[in-house]
Amino acid sequence: MRDAVGFGVFATEGTAPRVGFRVGDGILDLSAGGLSAGGLGDVFAVPSLDPFLALGRSAWEEALERIDALVSGGAEVVPLAEATVHLPFTVGDYVDFYSSLEHATNLGRLFRPDAEPLLPNWRHLPVGYHGRAGTVVVSGTPVVRPCGQTRPPGAEAPVFGPTRRLDLELELGFVVGVGSERGVPVPTAAFREHVFGVVLVNDWSARDIQAWEYQPLGPFLGKSFATSISAWVTPLALLESRIVPAPPQDPEPLPYLRVEGDWGLDVELEVEIARTVVSRTNARGLYWTMPQQLAHATVNGASIRTGDLFASGTISGSERGSEGSLIELTRNGEHPIGLGDGTTRTFLEDGDEVVLRGRAGDVRLGEVRGTVLPARFPGSAE
Ligand code: MN
Repeated sequence: MRDAVGFGVFATEGTAPRVGFRVGDGILDLSAGGLSAGGLGDVFAVPSLDPFLALGRSAWEEALERIDALVSGGAEVVPLAEATVHLPFTVGDYVDFYSSLEHATNLGRLFRPDAEPLLPNWRHLPVGYHGRAGTVVVSGTPVVRPCGQTRPPGAEAPVFGPTRRLDLELELGFVVGVGSERGVPVPTAAFREHVFGVVLVNDWSARDIQAWEYQPLGPFLGKSFATSISAWVTPLALLESRIVPAPPQDPEPLPYLRVEGDWGLDVELEVEIARTVVSRTNARGLYWTMPQQLAHATVNGASIRTGDLFASGTISGSERGSEGSLIELTRNGEHPIGLGDGTTRTFLEDGDEVVLRGRAGDVRLGEVRGTVLPARFPGSAE
């Protein structure tokens, strides 16, 4: 399907939010009939993808076939410009991994300059942490600059105030459709039975808050203030032709992390700040693949639910200009990058709009857009 983007929730003026399928800059209204014959109509006349996600793989594929037929038959679409979008599904649990070897190496060097950049566990398991599902927001939602504790270089004691090192993280997330039973791990081979599709993710990060708080338990307030996802979930079924070999893994992972077949995802990605593209990379370079991430997250018997979101971690390539965060692009703020308007950036400024985009051949991923608003101090008016 040329220029297919994916499933989302939209409304037009005076109408209730409902499920649609975006193709190019148009939205096919899935609640409007055409799909109801297969018994799928009701799951689309609601303001969430949740019921559709829970139906499972055969229903997802049946819906896509019908959509394909409607689109090629020239079905009427709602212009994207006339629609407002909503968070497409109820985010259950949110986990963020750390799957890019290049990113983990770059950050290790910056945060622990005197030690091995990769910690001893990194090549043995997909490192991750639990994020805050309640602050996952849809593309277009502004992000208020967070306040918090930071410890300035050389200072003994921390200070409180707005972050001065607000960053973005370019990530690809996958969305769970069918849950699992507690106590029963989800093997890599069952990935497609549980996972519906992917979204672009901006894991906004306050680097100064993060650097002071993260040891020993990992990211907390430096990341929990907001995470943006695209308004459109791209089904895995539309990405079949973009599944490619992932980078070789050395050492060979433990048996529960081994995967049959290829699981790299050839998705071209870019980051734009204030209308200038500052980074281009590709998700195919990720060391840990999505089936490995899910198998690891459930190997202890933890169950998954419809709407759980698992993000890859920052996607960075090995070349200059392919890093998925400002802390890497600017080498910890020491080498500012130039923007098209003649200004430079080390980290994000108030008013900056960040846009993440992805393309996989004929398929476009939904973009992730967000503008930074000034900090609001606790106790301040408004
Ligand atoms: Mn992240």
